Amino acid sequence: MNKAVFLDKDGTISEEVNYLSHYKDLKLLPHSAEAIKMLNEAGFKVIVISNQSGVARGYCSEDMLQAIDKTMQKELLNRGAFINAIYYCPHHPEHGCYPYRQVCACRKPHTGLVERAAEQYKLDLKSSFFVGDHANDVKTGKNARMKTVFVMTGHGKEELEEVQKNGKPDHVADDLLEAVKWILKK
Ligand SMILES: [Mg+2]
Repeated sequence: MNKAVFLDKDGTISEEVNYLSHYKDLKLLPHSAEAIKMLNEAGFKVIVISNQSGVARGYCSEDMLQAIDKTMQKELLNRGAFINAIYYCPHHPEHGCYPYRQVCACRKPHTGLVERAAEQYKLDLKSSFFVGDHANDVKTGKNARMKTVFVMTGHGKEELEEVQKNGKPDHVADDLLEAVKWILKK
């Protein structure tokens, strides 16, 4: 069985720009590559799980979304860091048209994508972690019985109150690098 660190993307690895819709606008946060490289070296699978309702809302095509993800992988690889897999949910229960408008099992805080990754990468979720800047990230981690780290980048400052009211994370970190340092001490 493998262990993994699941990461949210926007606001956790890259700058939050509210519905990123072009790869040219992707900007990694300052210490993301360093943090992910440390996870690679420690033997964790690094899996990105992200809600991309911008697809359902018509802000971004799936082709563009995949171009954004490729750009992120390339920029990380240039800095010696590697993401094993990127999963995204393009749906929204109320916006857009079918098939994107639907109640699905993959939109965080549902665990559909986590379960898919766990099967594909033979993951032991009990020794895995979920890191993100949104209350839904913490909920997803808890729903899948993982340890959770909330980061203060992205929407972190706005979400902190909600996250502390509803299901506290195991740790609150300034950014992904600090989150990873905490994880590696566990
Ligand atoms: Mg986020």
